[in-house]
Amino acid sequence: MSSSISKYLQRRDFNNSPEPRGSDARPPSDRVPMFVLHEHETDLPHLDLRLEIDGVLKSWVVPDGLPTDPGQQREALQMEDHPLEYADFEGVIPEGEYGAGTVRIRDKGFFENLTEKDEGLQPPHLALENGYLVFRLQGDQVQAAFVLQRTGTGAEPQWHLVLAWDKESP
Ligand code: MN
Repeated sequence: MSSSISKYLQRRDFNNSPEPRGSDARPPSDRVPMFVLHEHETDLPHLDLRLEIDGVLKSWVVPDGLPTDPGQQREALQMEDHPLEYADFEGVIPEGEYGAGTVRIRDKGFFENLTEKDEGLQPPHLALENGYLVFRLQGDQVQAAFVLQRTGTGAEPQWHLVLAWDKESP
């Protein structure tokens, strides 16, 4: 799975959209990786889940929002990788542009990979390739662990997003 924002760039006209042009994938840094949850009010309002993996924001559309009860699963559609700069983006994408509508940050914070393999942690990019990623979000509002499990392939693969536990459950 390549880490590149070429599809992100192709889909947008930066003369018309206020979204950041961003920069392409960089080598992983030592800093703790981040996540962002964007509320995206479009014709089909949804939540965008973005996880920093391999220098880009891996992105999923979650139409029904985060699961709220342990074991509950929600559909998630993997979209094009976004540049890291997108983590700070809020604004209005004009009518006629890709993703037209209002984007707001719902929560932001740290992302921790918890995917185990052979008595250690599996690097998150390999976990994604294998279609099974366990992770924890440490945000201002969301402090919970989730599983992303791939259920379908294609240009925009389908996943299930499952709540493993939240701050109220052990
Ligand atoms: Mn979106």
